[in-house]
Amino acid sequence: MTYQGLIHRYRQYLGLPAHTQNISLLEGDTPLIPMPRLSRQLGCELFVKFEGLNPTGSFKDRGMTAAISEAVGRGAETVICASTGNTAASAAAYAARAGLRSIVLIPEGKVAVGKLAGAIAYGAEVIQIRGSFDDALTLVVEITQKTPIALVNSINPFRIEGQKTAAFEICDDLGSAPDWLCLPVGNAGNITSYWAGFKQYQKGLPQVLGVQAAGAAPLVLGHPVEKPETVATAIRIGKPARGEQALDAARESNGMIIAVPDEKILAAQKILAEEGVWVEPASAAGLAGLLAESATGKFEAKGKRIVIVCTGHGMKDPAIITESFISPKVIPANYGSLIEVIAS
Ligand SMILES: *Cc1c(COP(=O)(O)O)cnc(C)c1O
Repeated sequence: MTYQGLIHRYRQYLGLPAHTQNISLLEGDTPLIPMPRLSRQLGCELFVKFEGLNPTGSFKDRGMTAAISEAVGRGAETVICASTGNTAASAAAYAARAGLRSIVLIPEGKVAVGKLAGAIAYGAEVIQIRGSFDDALTLVVEITQKTPIALVNSINPFRIEGQKTAAFEICDDLGSAPDWLCLPVGNAGNITSYWAGFKQYQKGLPQVLGVQAAGAAPLVLGHPVEKPETVATAIRIGKPARGEQALDAARESNGMIIAVPDEKILAAQKILAEEGVWVEPASAAGLAGLLAESATGKFEAKGKRIVIVCTGHGMKDPAIITESFISPKVIPANYGSLIEVIAS
């Protein structure tokens, strides 16, 4: 049978009200890509769950199909979200699909170009605010309490329902849960969803390694970060809305939440690209965390089956690559010049 999207495939596992009207772009069903070189290097069986291959280029589409489907069914006409970029693009796409108006609040000047372009292309009304993601989230919560506008941030419980499907897919592909699941943690909706999904699906439980950027690591520091800073803009969050649940997931799974510096995140991005998987910086945090922990010697990767969640596509944030890149050589258009350059 042809694929009809996540709600169709996993409806019985998703806590969605009867009024839900399925709005789908055939999200999900993303590949679990084996990484043979990294596996050999770490002595483990390593896979990338490549969430950048969702319709708008990030895992946000899993939760958004659920949130928009529910909002439409309840008669919402306008949706709003705060976003570091990917939620905006996803909300805009699913709202467009459903014929809803979408408004997105982003922190001024801090959104990667591929994400902003997506939100605009799908027809969202984009508003920049002079403040952080956390300020934007506070504002959208207030407006959705005072008006009929529907909130589609991951505080919305249906986002979490939809995002559980990634855990189901991993269990379906591997036959059971992996030993470890490594993923970036920003607002902490995704780690919350995976943990809920694995518990519900009853195919075993992974230990969960949640990874924050060192400049935006409230869950590691134990207090909010007023001015979060990191190249990994998708996890540039100082007050995670589901921080408690992220800590619960780490504790209950006998896992942990750690922080890694930006250099290690960018190094991990490069390692993934060298094996053919280009992800945006935040999406490399899971691997950066795994490599950092393996290097301490305390963490035993050997013989384990490990899934790295790569949350968004590299094309979302091209500037991070092109800014540090030396312009390609220019040569005359003749064979002699070409062979000279290649042989040198
Ligand atoms: C949203 C996002 C994250 C963080 O997910 P949370 O649910 O906020 O923890 C990580 N990576 C990418 C690419 C994202 O878009």
